[in-house]
Order: sequence, then structure tokens, then C-alpha cells
Amino acid sequence: MKCPKCGCEDFEIAADTHDTCSFLAIINDDGSFDTKESLKENCGDTNYHGNAICCECDCNIVIATGEILEPGVRLLPYSVLLLYPDYIANEFGHETYRAFVYATCAHEAIDAAQKEAIRESPDYTEIANPEDFYPLSVLRWHSNMEGKRQ
Ligand SMILES: [Zn+2]
Repeated sequence: MKCPKCGCEDFEIAADTHDTCSFLAIINDDGSFDTKESLKENCGDTNYHGNAICCECDCNIVIATGEILEPGVRLLPYSVLLLYPDYIANEFGHETYRAFVYATCAHEAIDAAQKEAIRESPDYTEIANPEDFYPLSVLRWHSNMEGKRQ
């Protein structure tokens, strides 16, 4: 990807990371503990944001599409779990759709996930209403059971 304004190939991309630390500690009789020193630190589960900033001209770009955003807008990773509507589900109440989207807020994330769910239900694209996919949860990262994006 090159910056659409200046052609630069270097970008700053923000990410959320999860650090795992080990400590040397004394465990007290009441279950509390006192840490004495940090032993190991591991940075993992990197969740990149969906926009990048050009290092030359500060242009803010959507990584997936190349679209230019207003300065300061951040596209954050969200995991959205939706309940399939009764007219699509074989077993209503038991079938869910999980989407990994980028958005500026939770409401926008739900909206993007609902639109994606319809696109992924081609037999119902003409009749389905996006809001019939009921949001069950919205998490502010891309996560599966391992904490990583699928
Ligand atoms: Zn640029």
C-alpha cells in the first residue's frame, strides 16, 4: 500500500496488545500475595487497528480499502456476536453469527456486523432486515478462544 496523497510506503499503525508477566512472589495464608520482582514478560495477542497514518503527510487511511479518513479517526477492532432471525435460523435461539469488524464505536460495529451477516446469508439478502440480527455481545477486540483474530 502507498499513501494516496504522497506515495509514501511507511505507515504508523496502532495496536492493542496483551502482556503476560511472571513474578517472584510470597503467597500469604489469606490467599493474597506480595510480588518481589518481575521475572518474565511476554507481549502477545496483538490487535491492530483498522487505520494507518502516513509517516510523511499524516494522511489517515483505511487499511482494507485505501479510503481516506478524517484526521484523528481510529478504526478499532470489535468482535460482535449476533443471533440469527427466526426466518433464517434452523433452530431459532441457538444459531449465532460472529463478525470481526473495524469501527469507531460499538454502535457502528453492530451496524457493520449486521450488514456483513446479511451478505453472508445469500438466500435472504433480498428479504432480511439487518436489525433482525439481534446483538448478543460486542467486545472491543478481535477474539476467538485463543484471544486472536481468526
Ligand atoms: Zn502520505
